Amino acid sequence: MGYGDHLMAIGAASRQHLEDPQRRLVAIGDGCRVESDYSDLEHGLSFLANQRTVDAGAPVTWIISYKAFRPYHDHAAMEAQWSLAHPARRRLFGRPDPRTLVDRLGYYVFNPQYRAEPAPLVLTSEEAGLADKLGQKPFVLIEPHIKSTASPSKRWPFERFAAVAETLSREIEIYQVGSPELPALAKARRITTHSFREALPYLKSARLYLGPEGGLHHAAAAMGTPAVVLFGGYVPPSVTGYAMHTNLTGGATACGSQHRICRHCEAAMANIQPDHVLLAVREILQRPD
Ligand SMILES: [Zn+2]
Repeated sequence: MGYGDHLMAIGAASRQHLEDPQRRLVAIGDGCRVESDYSDLEHGLSFLANQRTVDAGAPVTWIISYKAFRPYHDHAAMEAQWSLAHPARRRLFGRPDPRTLVDRLGYYVFNPQYRAEPAPLVLTSEEAGLADKLGQKPFVLIEPHIKSTASPSKRWPFERFAAVAETLSREIEIYQVGSPELPALAKARRITTHSFREALPYLKSARLYLGPEGGLHHAAAAMGTPAVVLFGGYVPPSVTGYAMHTNLTGGATACGSQHRICRHCEAAMANIQPDHVLLAVREILQRPD
């Protein structure tokens, strides 16, 4: 949860704004409070409302998306499944608190109708200048890590990323962005970035992004950059993935499991061999520009 969720919300807000004949501003949040934790992404996005606009009573429409409620989860189905599994508790205590629903149920149910839309992020002139400069020499951006709060089911083994980087580095330069505390790929040019936003020019100018399902794959879509995304078995690519990307599941159907270790997700990731990833990467790199 975090930047990726907000990027999806910005993508949805952009579409909502364009489809609104009155072109009202769109607020992202719970219907009263605007989600402001990721406002650094909103540079130049004039269709978004901030809290001041909402408080001033300006006509806005909402994208309901906040920490305990993301629209790509099917909250009604989750409540129904929990009630079916625990009829006595449901009778005694009534509806479960939506904030604790996933912990009680043990898994997410995804909203099969939801489709992620690329967020139309705007680079600052400084960022666009850096992207232009970087883009003069082709490179692939690899992110081998998942964020510490992400489900471990999203992790493809680091050694496999390293094997892919090793082979690819003979063909094209490899970049890795992020915090210097995390292990580096031996073959990558390491760029220390201090914020999510700092990675955007690198994503914009990369020929391709390779990494897990997460904030950077949403940002790659926002930058219009092709990607090979290691989905595995946790979340369905039809929901949080983009048609412009190659999304690898290892043949699994998404489970949404909240267990620290999900054997099904481990098996899904184990099914994705470095050779499969290299094939998908090369297929994209060989496309004409
Ligand atoms: Zn699983």
